[in-house]
Amino acid sequence: MTIKAVCFDLDDTLLWDERSVREAFEATCQYAEQQSGIDAEQLELKVREAARSLYASYETYSFTQNIGINPFEALWAHFTGGEHTAFRTLEKIAPEYRAAAWTNGLFSLGVDDPKLGETCAELFMTERRNRPYVYDETFEVLDRLRERYPLLLLTNGSPSLQQEKLDGVPGIASYFDHIVISGNHDHGKPNRSLFEHALDLLGLKPEETIMVGDKLTTDIIGAIQMGMHNAWINRHEMKPSEDITPEYTITCLLELFDVIETINQQQPV
Ligand SMILES: [Mg+2]
Repeated sequence: MTIKAVCFDLDDTLLWDERSVREAFEATCQYAEQQSGIDAEQLELKVREAARSLYASYETYSFTQNIGINPFEALWAHFTGGEHTAFRTLEKIAPEYRAAAWTNGLFSLGVDDPKLGETCAELFMTERRNRPYVYDETFEVLDRLRERYPLLLLTNGSPSLQQEKLDGVPGIASYFDHIVISGNHDHGKPNRSLFEHALDLLGLKPEETIMVGDKLTTDIIGAIQMGMHNAWINRHEMKPSEDITPEYTITCLLELFDVIETINQQQPV
């Protein structure tokens, strides 16, 4: 059986989201340091803590967990798209959540200044939007693969936010024959139904496809459960998990070509 299509995760697989978020925090926290004298690095830690805990306290938490929208995405996301009523609730909660995350973070370092909290919340959104990074090899890999395979994007998240991330990198969406965003469906990865939907769109059997992603608990376990080939992109020397064993581990997307070649040469058992 040979590979007939390649499925990609988006965040931290094709887009360098972690760097975008990290730098947006740095820029915003440095602004707060200039305004109030507190340590920028400490503030980032405190705001991340405050964001996580606030996010988990909202009625939308189980929905965001299921669809796969993390607290730091909600610090800058629009939730205007998506049919689920929970997106409308998120839209309402978001401004208060953002301001509170920054205000609480400042407060825990002894700065009681809700106005500065609100300014930081706004600034973070702008700083994150200004940084739509991709990895050095992203376009080369997509260019070469597209010549041979249909490509499908399988991403967890809010439809508005994932679309905005794609729009931030001109041309990237056009590489994909199909784009599946979990927020348009009932569940996110690793739920089986989302992978089944992806395979239906491709009209292929699981073993004719490969899923490429950075997250063992969503991309890789989901693909394993379906019987899809899978490659875990581990760029930061993360420790392998004891429970989830990817079929292939790569440290750069360019290694995918060898992986696909290896699979294509395997004899059917
Ligand atoms: Mg990812």
